[in-house]
Amino acid sequence: MPSRADNSPDSPGLQAARSPGRALRCPELLAPAGSLTMLETAFAFGATAVYAGQPRYSLRVRNNDFGDIDVLKQGVDRAHALGHKFYLVSNIFPHDNKIKHYVQNMAPVIALQPDAMIMSDPGLIMMVRETWPEMEIHLSVQANTVNSAAVRFWKSAGVSRVILSRELSLDQVAQIRQECPDTELEVFVHGALCIAYSGRCLLSGYFNHRDANQGSCTNSCRWDYKTQPGVVDASGDILAPQAAAERERAEVYVIEESQRPGSYMPIEEDEHGTYVMNSKDLRAIEHVKRLVEIGVDSLKIEGRTKSPYYVARTVQSYRHAIDDAVAGRELDPALLGQLEGLANRGYTSGFFQRHTPQETQNYLRGYSESGRSLYVGDVASFDAASGLAEVTVKNRFAVGDALEIIHPAGNFDLQLDRMENIDGQAVTVAPGSGHVVWLPLPASAVGAFVARYVAAPETAGLLDQVSV
Ligand code: SF4
Repeated sequence: MPSRADNSPDSPGLQAARSPGRALRCPELLAPAGSLTMLETAFAFGATAVYAGQPRYSLRVRNNDFGDIDVLKQGVDRAHALGHKFYLVSNIFPHDNKIKHYVQNMAPVIALQPDAMIMSDPGLIMMVRETWPEMEIHLSVQANTVNSAAVRFWKSAGVSRVILSRELSLDQVAQIRQECPDTELEVFVHGALCIAYSGRCLLSGYFNHRDANQGSCTNSCRWDYKTQPGVVDASGDILAPQAAAERERAEVYVIEESQRPGSYMPIEEDEHGTYVMNSKDLRAIEHVKRLVEIGVDSLKIEGRTKSPYYVARTVQSYRHAIDDAVAGRELDPALLGQLEGLANRGYTSGFFQRHTPQETQNYLRGYSESGRSLYVGDVASFDAASGLAEVTVKNRFAVGDALEIIHPAGNFDLQLDRMENIDGQAVTVAPGSGHVVWLPLPASAVGAFVARYVAAPETAGLLDQVSV
């Protein structure tokens, strides 16, 4: 049985978050929101703040409901009604055509009173400071702040919080904390990583004119680049044979850069291709205790284009880890398993500690998969007459499967021995997305996500289809 996360209002972490001045301060748990459903899920599972942005001015053009100002207003109001914070992301690096109407376009958004704006462009920051001097500004990770002098610079420019560059070690974060005790610091602890410094990448723009700095990156670093066969000669040098006959005795695969003809770099390739620049995903849950001890103000989860299921899993796990750290307890190892329940590209703790390239990059595949479980449905309602709960199916599952029910009040397992279709007939299979089935679950399971325990190869590709 998976461990239960304590997300109740009495959770020690949440209490500490509301009690400034305690010896070990509880950092904010900041979750991504690409939709109102993600926002609700984040708060239900223990987040204390969310971030969201309009597609035009933030780096998430896709899967983003907050282009509609009415939706944005609902999000801000809902966060405030729950006593939590809503940060508005406005972190593109705009060209002149986009700054012309920036202040005019932002006026109705600022009027909604988000708790801060997350920004990176110095010009836009200056414009906001001049027009709305009372508005708090958090410096985006896109600004690549890597030292305490830069933090002081941004503080002098009116920034109240700096989201540190992902490319820092724990010791470097600690040093900046020491040097800059009066500036709020935020770090990413979970989510996708770039192969470049965040925001300093032109791959997507180069390959298909989709600029990462305008929010439309196509993840070109994760494409499957084709290679050619090569051979190793007697002296150990790598040769790339041109003749078809020689290709048949290829011993290695190589890539050749156009400006360095004859210089072949060995590379691994599977039947899909090769993934030379594909970083693993960040998972720094094992470093939460140290980050709390350092005194970081906010721990952030990446993933505004991902699913409510992803938000539930990550927020629940990091809530538990933060509460344990604040209470002086060691990390619950079960949390590592919970995060394996999400599709991922392989996990790394990134730059927080030293790694070999093999530990930080996934050379074998560009898609995400989970070796533990597959998201299969949402518990939508409960029928007291039949004692069954309605489940909206997301992926296939069947009678006989071991299911995990993931709920804000705690998770539990279910060995599925029966289910019914929408007509009340017994069925053995829930075929997939678009179907509804009824399962023997308690009324308290409404609002839960359902995952099916699986073996790794079964999830490959599937999970990408549901943006987990
Ligand atoms: S192409 Fe890859 S490294 Fe470049 S911005 Fe996009 S995700 Fe990051």
